[in-house]
Amino acid sequence: MKGKVFLVGAGPGDVELLTLKAVRILKSASVVLHDALVGEGILAMVRPHALLVDVGKRVGDKRISQEGINRMLMQFAASANVVVRLKGGDPSIFGRAAEEMAALRAAGIEFEIVPGVTAATAAAAQAQIPLTDRESASAVVFLTAQQANCPASIEPFVRTGATLAIYMPNRQHREIALQLSAAGLANDTPCLIVSNASRQNQEQHWTDLAGLTLVSQPETPALLIIGEVARHREAGITAAALYAVAEADRVGFRVSHGR
Ligand code: SAH
Repeated sequence: MKGKVFLVGAGPGDVELLTLKAVRILKSASVVLHDALVGEGILAMVRPHALLVDVGKRVGDKRISQEGINRMLMQFAASANVVVRLKGGDPSIFGRAAEEMAALRAAGIEFEIVPGVTAATAAAAQAQIPLTDRESASAVVFLTAQQANCPASIEPFVRTGATLAIYMPNRQHREIALQLSAAGLANDTPCLIVSNASRQNQEQHWTDLAGLTLVSQPETPALLIIGEVARHREAGITAAALYAVAEADRVGFRVSHGR
């Protein structure tokens, strides 16, 4: 008999952003393979005797390969009824779900995907900005730093004025800013870095494209939101005033909430 594998979105970190379905499945799982990004509060939902495997952990310099994870999923599905592959955010966004689904399909193992709140929507919510706006942004694009680091691939999005949500900026803010500028994005375009969105230790760093080249290393995980939507913020001190400071000093600044 073969078990079923659930690819479950754990959301950005806040336990309350888990779906009811994710909680139900986590509570019924005998095995949970999770990413390094999934926090303790969420892992606490798992039954006491279930097997928890951190497949994001490095052992020495090595991390378990994607093929290794695929093999584990198949082996566990041969003996356990409910196997959960728990991923940060939403499984379908930069979560390597494609490889896992292909392996499960090839092995004839039943699977189901449970969506989660992705980092971009969590970051926008935390910063109280929209990701689209009738006036200024009719599209939002989810990118990785790798894509953002290539003017040719980014240029079409820059032209349409889409909001750019850049995952895994990996401390390459300066390079990303230079590439976006080369692709034609204006230097005064508002930029926002949100670290640890939805968590106790979340931080926001507001700047503009020119200021982004000077940003010191934010905490990780961090997501970069670039576009006119980031002008929407109003919280005591207005975004316009913050940008005026950034503009004048050519530096970013840090704003923290939630401690
Ligand atoms: N599937 C995930 C993304 C995985 S890629 C999702 O849908 O969110 C990992 C990247 O996601 C990190 O490098 C970071 O850019 C972003 N990320 C994940 N959780 C985050 C959080 N709580 N705050 C800010 N960025 C986060």
